[in-house]
Amino acid sequence: MILLDGAEVANRRNLELNKKILKSVEKYKRAPSLSIILVGQNPASLSYVKGKGKACKLVGIKHKLYHLDENIKETELAELITTLNNDDQVDGILLQLPLPHHLDDDKLINLISKDKDADGFHVINQGNLYQKRETVYPATPKGIMSLLSAYDIDVKGMNAVIIGRSNIVGFPVARLLMDQGATITVCHRQTKDLSLHTKQADLIIASAGRAELVTKDMVKNGAIVVDVGVNRVDGKLVGDVHFDGVKEVAGYLSPVPRGVGPMTINALLENTYDLYLKHIK
Ligand code: NAD
Repeated sequence: MILLDGAEVANRRNLELNKKILKSVEKYKRAPSLSIILVGQNPASLSYVKGKGKACKLVGIKHKLYHLDENIKETELAELITTLNNDDQVDGILLQLPLPHHLDDDKLINLISKDKDADGFHVINQGNLYQKRETVYPATPKGIMSLLSAYDIDVKGMNAVIIGRSNIVGFPVARLLMDQGATITVCHRQTKDLSLHTKQADLIIASAGRAELVTKDMVKNGAIVVDVGVNRVDGKLVGDVHFDGVKEVAGYLSPVPRGVGPMTINALLENTYDLYLKHIK
């Protein structure tokens, strides 16, 4: 089994990005900048935001964190987003999800200017993705595609089974894989017999958010398995794939942590840099 080492690939890509950023700063006299908005004290979100800030620093992206009170009014948050949209020094805006229940995440995400949408969640950017137009790719699907390409995996003609159909992972990654020539099957909560599909798969993308859902008996010999899931079980991070079992049959397998997570952050940084270039030119 070949380990899809997301941490290593992301490191390499971050170093390349850093070189590009240094050159651009020399040329345009300003670093790319990302504004991160975090509402409340969700421990997972706090840790994600910390990781994203650290990564920004590493590659030379200026970042500012707006850490807001759990009970902030929607109008106040909307005002902040509008201010950042109008701030010429801000290239990218990221609203960390999930938001507390009294806030409408869909409405707020779509308030972010599509030209500053670092996560690629804006409805227009997603629409452009589905119509194969130029867009900002959602960070996790983009990171998964970069991970596969780093291992020279050509998905053309493969049977790809995606577990999960969310707007931020499952559905857009299905679209990207289909664009690259894979035949896709999207499984979800209502899928009757998940293993019927996974057993036929040359490539499995596990993004259900269910700890160790994919077991050895569900995976074909030599299949490529990408584990997107992040689940906390007894204080430990566990993916959607039973790693120790599946590693005995898979041809390629991504671990959790150090798999898709660092690739997602790298994609976010690359998105921010691309938005900066468009903005500053
Ligand atoms: P979500 O809850 O929005 O979507 C989960 C999807 O999985 C749904 O479409 C649901 O129908 C499907 N599903 C749930 N249980 C299932 C089952 N038993 N069988 C088949 N399908 C099932 O979640 P999401 O935002 O798409 O995230 C999915 C997972 O990926 C989570 O664990 C999340 O933490 C993780 N994630 C990781 C990264 C990263 O960078 N590593 C980024 C985003 C999300």
